[in-house]
Amino acid sequence: MELPFFKYHPHPLATRAIVKSDLSCECCGEARGYIYTASFYTAEQIDHICPWCIASGEAAKKYQGSYVDDYPLLDANVPLEIVNEVCERTPGYHSWQQEIWQSHCGTACEFHGDAETAELTQWQGEPLQQFLDDEMMSIERWHQLLSHYQPGGNPAIYKFKCPSCGEVIYSMDYT
Ligand SMILES: [Zn+2]
Ligand SMILES: [Zn+2]
Repeated sequence: MELPFFKYHPHPLATRAIVKSDLSCECCGEARGYIYTASFYTAEQIDHICPWCIASGEAAKKYQGSYVDDYPLLDANVPLEIVNEVCERTPGYHSWQQEIWQSHCGTACEFHGDAETAELTQWQGEPLQQFLDDEMMSIERWHQLLSHYQPGGNPAIYKFKCPSCGEVIYSMDYT
């Protein structure tokens, strides 16, 4: 069975938000070969949801839950319909702190997992400077960080992409 497509999280197997598993989904009761592994914010204790119950919005509706914090998107004035798609019908991602879904051009970005070391090393110019300003980090500290950086490590640097203009946006997270 082919996985549903998630516009704002196009490669959930690569990011390990979804993994192959024999576990049954608590929402639909079926074992469909894949299970979701990242956050699900709900008052109930729900550990296993299948990608299909995420994509249909069934699990979010049934448990009044969400996979992603909506505040950063609402704060950026992303249209509610898109915020709902990201928060209620898109897999979240693994992060140290609460995830901060990025936005650009007035819309939600696609999540592309941990940035590769090579792309960060090549990153320069205005976007890098903006990132360093936002993180209050010097360029020396950035280079030092890169010399130890491992995808999936601490700190983590996540890669997002604007579906409208294609700009890549990185966001940093650590314990
Ligand atoms: Zn299900
Ligand atoms: Zn954009």
